[in-house]
Amino acid sequence: MKAVVIHAAHDLRVEDRPAELAGPGQVEVAIEAGGICGSDLHYYHHGGFGTVRVREPMILGHEVAGTIKALGEGVSGLAIGDRVAVSPSRPCNACDYCLRGEQNHCLNMRFYGSAMPMPHIQGAFRQRLVAEAWQCHKVADGLSANEAAFAEPFAVTLHAVNRAGALLGKRVLVTGSGPIGALAIIAARAHGAVEIVATDVMDAVLVKAREVGADRTINVATHGEQLDAYSANKGYFDVHFEASGNERAVRSGLEVLRPRGVLVQLGLGGDVSIPQNMVVAKEIEMRGTFRFHEEFALAVDLINRRQVDVKPLLSGIYGLDQALTAFETAGDRSRSMKVQLSF
Ligand code: ZN
Repeated sequence: MKAVVIHAAHDLRVEDRPAELAGPGQVEVAIEAGGICGSDLHYYHHGGFGTVRVREPMILGHEVAGTIKALGEGVSGLAIGDRVAVSPSRPCNACDYCLRGEQNHCLNMRFYGSAMPMPHIQGAFRQRLVAEAWQCHKVADGLSANEAAFAEPFAVTLHAVNRAGALLGKRVLVTGSGPIGALAIIAARAHGAVEIVATDVMDAVLVKAREVGADRTINVATHGEQLDAYSANKGYFDVHFEASGNERAVRSGLEVLRPRGVLVQLGLGGDVSIPQNMVVAKEIEMRGTFRFHEEFALAVDLINRRQVDVKPLLSGIYGLDQALTAFETAGDRSRSMKVQLSF
């Protein structure tokens, strides 16, 4: 079995790994599509992010879909040949957070392709993956594995919507229109947002933002004044999904949010300074959002029923023999939205 393994920054290898057997309650999945995520790119370019470092070889990847090839003992509700999206979220279901229904905060989380714990949690960029049956969600007939592999990043944005609260009739700003920002546009639209304005610093990205449902896009590198105009009369937007991790985007959001607006922070970045007086005077709420849990099933369901269309965001598919090219291409925002590997 071939797997895509990160050893250190810019040291990515396609290696043979021993295949595993499905145990009780588990299934063996032939992985067909795997989306390259920002965190995979951080491991590739920088060997990690923040204080998280790759300290041993780790299989990357957590956005995957494929076909079931074998069933372990006692598995019901799934059959050989079923096509499934696999949730990478594996909480312990026993710690205090899990028991409160906050599995994304599990103290013993084993999320695929994560170098946070030691030993690292091996990821899902491999030809065969043994997963728990409860991680697997059936994909509708006629839907490609490539579309199904969007369930994971889409679930991230559905969780962000849950953090934001009701969006029905709300005006929404999305800053940073890469894959997560673009999926946030789709998620916000699906939840009744009445107006969505999206920003980025690259025109190619903004074309995609409009294609998936943004009413207006603003290139803040060249036309920042168009966003500034929304700060009149204490602001315009009810909710701001911040998906860039950029300090200026955070600050501009605080300026254009209406009093009692909500800023939902999706993007990871460094330490930023916040205009405290503005947060106080406008009674703005800043909320973080991290991963997802139950939203994965909803993501698969919305994609299955074609309530949302993620296809415009797929910008390239590369075979395992081109894994390096895939990672280089995925990191080039002028050319790429979501790049996937084919196994
Ligand atoms: Zn737990």
